[in-house]
Amino acid sequence: MSEFKILSNCCQSTNEVEGKNLTDLDLPIAIIGAGPVGLAAAAHLIKYNQKVIILEAGSEVGSNILTWAHIRLFSPWKYNIDKAASSLLEKYDWNKPNLEDIPTGKELVENYLVPLSKIPELKEVISLDTKVISIARKNTDKMKTANRENVPFVIYTEQKGSLQVIEARAVIDATGTWGNPNPATSNGVWFQSEKELKDQIFYGLPDILGENSKRYINSKTAVIGSGHSAINALLELGALKEKYPQTEILWIIRKEHVEQAYGGKERDALEARGLLGSRIHELVDSGQVQVYTSFQIERIVGEANSTLKIVGDVRGSKILIESINEVIVNTGNRPNYSFLSELRTSVDFATESVEAISPLIDPNLHSCGTVRPHGEKELRQPEKNLYIVGSKSYGRAPTFLMATGYEQVRSIAAYIAGDIETSEKVELDLPETGVCSVNLVNSNSEINKKSCDKDTCCS
Ligand SMILES: Cc1cc2nc3c(=O)[nH]c(=O)nc-3n(C[C@H](O)[C@H](O)[C@H](O)COP(=O)(O)OP(=O)(O)OC[C@H]3O[C@@H](n4cnc5c(N)ncnc54)[C@H](O)[C@@H]3O)c2cc1C
Repeated sequence: MSEFKILSNCCQSTNEVEGKNLTDLDLPIAIIGAGPVGLAAAAHLIKYNQKVIILEAGSEVGSNILTWAHIRLFSPWKYNIDKAASSLLEKYDWNKPNLEDIPTGKELVENYLVPLSKIPELKEVISLDTKVISIARKNTDKMKTANRENVPFVIYTEQKGSLQVIEARAVIDATGTWGNPNPATSNGVWFQSEKELKDQIFYGLPDILGENSKRYINSKTAVIGSGHSAINALLELGALKEKYPQTEILWIIRKEHVEQAYGGKERDALEARGLLGSRIHELVDSGQVQVYTSFQIERIVGEANSTLKIVGDVRGSKILIESINEVIVNTGNRPNYSFLSELRTSVDFATESVEAISPLIDPNLHSCGTVRPHGEKELRQPEKNLYIVGSKSYGRAPTFLMATGYEQVRSIAAYIAGDIETSEKVELDLPETGVCSVNLVNSNSEINKKSCDKDTCCS
């Protein structure tokens, strides 16, 4: 850190702060992360004439989404645009997309997030290249309770090598989880050996048919994971194999049956999400993909000829998969709480989600992925005026939809602005996934194909 600089006029002196209610101070509400949910939070707060500042680590809004720009989403625009954001955009010359079309990640950023970030209400309050590294209460460490609620948040940010300090009266953490992948290992531990193989392991979604194609053409590639990201990668590898038949595709999953990864298929209310399951089913049935089920990965190690070896356990037997050229890891992501460590947070011990929403989203309890709407009340942290929203609020749970995040921030913005009645009216109708297996702990071997029932976990 080359320099320590306090932003001019940012900070109120202790004398100014004492005896005042925090809401009386002319401080902004700081939103961390300019992804779809952070920007939606700003739109809702602006609707209530609240002063906001948005701190974004990347050099562009939607930075996490741009890492998978080439992938087409599964939900149409009507679920991807926040209502308050849409009203703001409609005041200007916005080329509103057809709400039934399904955008790619790039289109989501270029046709929605970038125009939103450029409207006059938001343009001046977004600070790009600004990474939040720590947040505390002014002169008040985590242990100290007295007067805690009345002192501002102090946000430490790193901006192009210099450290800056910003004060805020509330903090909305919308930093997502995408930049923080899980390792390949089944026990979740990051081994040094895996870290050292980063040139041959891709965490996330490489552009297999575009700029990263050279890595995968006629290579032997193992895809690890069974969610939508893994399926997207496999389908692209399948398309590559049509042109380059020597391309070998391996799919390594922990699930006992590959069918468990196919999801609701035609029962899914989102046609494109259901299609992912149907298409991967066809690709597997065509014999193009070598599937390893019940595979617990212990290590990935380098071999003498620059290939990789995956060491694992399948139903108690040691299994080695050798001579792999490339690995694509889609084992999910984990939230980063390090910069919140001086604040009082309530986080679920398993999912690392906001504690109160864990029972709604824990995949150990149900797998429907359709989550009851929730708002300010459930997202409230022990630290007053701190909220964790968006995909980070789900922690390690995989089923987050932007529409859920938009409802979260609508409710929080209303509450912060004092509109309690609106804040408590939490309404959201999410499209069902068509899969609903309850209490998976007790029904591991069952491939549950029943439709979602309003009285079970999906309601
Ligand atoms: C391949 C794929 C397809 C998907 N398809 C759909 C779909 O069809 N429909 C749907 O609803 N959802 C879909 N999702 C999920 C959804 O897009 C994401 O969950 C969404 O991007 C989450 O938004 P967010 O604002 O919570 O977080 P993000 O989009 O991850 O934004 C977080 C932002 O915070 C910034 N940030 C991180 N750390 C810091 C820090 N310390 N300081 C400052 N800034 C920071 C990041 O740079 C980033 O810009 C998909 C996800 C993937 C990966």
